[in-house]
Amino acid sequence: MRATLQLILCFAMMTMSVLVGAQTNDSDTLPVTIAIKAGQLIDGRGGPAISNAVIVIEGERIIAVGKNTPIPDGAQVIDLSHATVLPGLIDCHTHITVSPGVAVEIGRRSFVDAAIMAPTYARATLEAGFTTIRNMGAHSFVDVSLRNAIDRGDIPGPRIVAATMSISATGGHSDVTNGYSPYLSVAGLSGVADGVEDIRKLVRYEIKYGADVIKVMATAGAMSEEESVDAALYTQEELDAVVDEARMWGRRVGAHAHGSEGIKRAVLAGVASIEHGTFLDEEGARLMVEHGTYLVKDSYEDRWFMERALEWGYPHTIIDKLGKIVAGHETAFKLARKHSVRIAFGTDAGMIPHGENAKQFRDYIAWGMPPMEAILTATQNAADLIGWEDRIGAVAPGLFADIIAVPGDPLLDPTLLERVSFVMKSGEIVKQ
Ligand SMILES: [Zn+2]
Repeated sequence: MRATLQLILCFAMMTMSVLVGAQTNDSDTLPVTIAIKAGQLIDGRGGPAISNAVIVIEGERIIAVGKNTPIPDGAQVIDLSHATVLPGLIDCHTHITVSPGVAVEIGRRSFVDAAIMAPTYARATLEAGFTTIRNMGAHSFVDVSLRNAIDRGDIPGPRIVAATMSISATGGHSDVTNGYSPYLSVAGLSGVADGVEDIRKLVRYEIKYGADVIKVMATAGAMSEEESVDAALYTQEELDAVVDEARMWGRRVGAHAHGSEGIKRAVLAGVASIEHGTFLDEEGARLMVEHGTYLVKDSYEDRWFMERALEWGYPHTIIDKLGKIVAGHETAFKLARKHSVRIAFGTDAGMIPHGENAKQFRDYIAWGMPPMEAILTATQNAADLIGWEDRIGAVAPGLFADIIAVPGDPLLDPTLLERVSFVMKSGEIVKQ
């Protein structure tokens, strides 16, 4: 009883000190006004590129944008008149707590190792111009702690929409003991749940401890040792439960799905996005359009990883599955575009080094997407998928001043997006 009382008092004192701290900060910092002179501006919403534009920022937000926008008296001027300015990019599928490497290391590292390295990966991502990420799977709530530290301003990094642990059936794609002894226990590491009741409980548990979005494994995949790469691994009833439970808590769901059956079940359940969508078929594409489901399309990382997987000691099960996925990406991408499926940018970064996210644009463009449309997948479309179109994804009044610049015209040379020379997040310069 006494312990409980002490606990309550302790909480009350903590809350008070937080409030006092907040008041002090507000009174001694006035918003700074900044004007950016942009040689060319791509607004992130598909408007024509504007030459010699001015962007006015007050505090953390953009307050005015335009060709003839006057520079307010006393504003700090940032001259990017030899560069193209764009909104901060958004990667809708990262794994910010892991990095690619030799197979044997995976089982030898814990979530503590992940937590130690994650700030480095977060910084690399931000400095590459990705000011927001949707992190689609991390063990032990490391992504939540990272997100919170960044939001508090303790460490630099992108805004993070955190999925926490991917929800998977027993033996499914994020059951991390696939292929190991039945006596190996990894309680708390992965998000395994079977049946409607357990699934609903796991969704509640993840949201309770900080999940912003729910990631569900609707099919098998490459990077774990289940037999199939594409089998549907949850029933319709189970997927319906994931989406329904998440929706009650105001959360969206992204479904990892390679195979066509799992894609369709996930779309029918009402997920916001299909991740990968490698073996999408005509019916699946039509259903995605009908339901407004986004395709978060990655591809570059699978090729990159497959080239190294043998040397890194990955089992043939995984290498063979990677081969099937690599072979499927282009067809799926072109089929999705033929049906006008909405596409959002995603890289699975963590399978490639963090900070190389923009290399995914290469495949989009090589497979026929015009550069402007490719940019929109990582701005307007990504913001819409996350539900933050009123905060990020465009250079427009009222939005956060998340702004990047590249040294030239990315519409002529899209690889310039891999060489971001200026990054601002919430009105603060991160890289110049
Ligand atoms: Zn992933």
